[in-house]
Amino acid sequence: MVNPLKIEREDQKLEKRLCREMGQAIADYNMIEAGDRVMVCLSGGKDSYALLDILMKLQQRAPIDFELIAVNLDQKQPGFPAEVLPNYLSKLGVKFHIETQDTYSVVKKVIPEGKTMCSLCSRLRRGILYKVARELGCNKIALGHHRDDILQTLLLNMFFGAKLKGMPAKLVSDNGEFMVIRPLAYVAEKDLIRWAQVREFPIIPCTLCGSQDNLQRQHMKDMLKDWEKRFPGRVDNMLTALQNVVPSHLMDRKLFPFETLKTTGEDNAEGDTAFDEEPLPKTPTRLLGEQVIALTSSD
Ligand code: SF4
Repeated sequence: MVNPLKIEREDQKLEKRLCREMGQAIADYNMIEAGDRVMVCLSGGKDSYALLDILMKLQQRAPIDFELIAVNLDQKQPGFPAEVLPNYLSKLGVKFHIETQDTYSVVKKVIPEGKTMCSLCSRLRRGILYKVARELGCNKIALGHHRDDILQTLLLNMFFGAKLKGMPAKLVSDNGEFMVIRPLAYVAEKDLIRWAQVREFPIIPCTLCGSQDNLQRQHMKDMLKDWEKRFPGRVDNMLTALQNVVPSHLMDRKLFPFETLKTTGEDNAEGDTAFDEEPLPKTPTRLLGEQVIALTSSD
């Protein structure tokens, strides 16, 4: 039989972990500063609900003042339950704005039947969100992408784009006007799935537009899930690897001056042996979670 006390303890631990990981990502990348007005993008999916929820918890404990404004774009997809988010946000007591723009009809009109609509749809959405952020006086835009989104993107870019490129935790918006932040960058998707159940978020299905799930992204997701099951810690280590890049041991001539490299005549005790493979630790040695706990745990 399931022990309700044990579940409660696990959920409390989960809440602490979510706060700790988000707090750490915010600190590592200096995502939020005093006086910021952060527009939190809400889609009605589990990730963006958790983003707002945990940001609000951190806001209460933070030593600095910053504002949060939740924003949802109602794209007029058929069957979109327009009342769900306003009801939820009113109860929550957070400032919010619902922007209604019928991008669905525009996309349907322009994209031939059967073709993927996502690229035009997200371009339109981006433009509208910038406009709303400007009107609301926000200087930061927070998005709900998490650790697994970042790693899936990394693999997709490697396999299909021939690029070593993930998804940044912080970047300047493409119009140069806003700082875009991803405070869930260290958070595992499975934790967000559980948190959505714990908090009973009123999830709005993301299939309303009728667009197919990106099949390749789903493959990457399955692959990461399988690795995590068979080799616990591997997925966290992949994320940590993105923070430990060694340009001299990659092959990008733009990042390291291979052509002009000169011998030094000095023995480098720290350096790799030139011809042998570097020995790998048998077990993961630097899990992100452990690092975060060591830095911030006070419990
Ligand atoms: S899945 Fe639908 S709503 Fe999302 S970007 Fe694609 S077309 Fe737009």
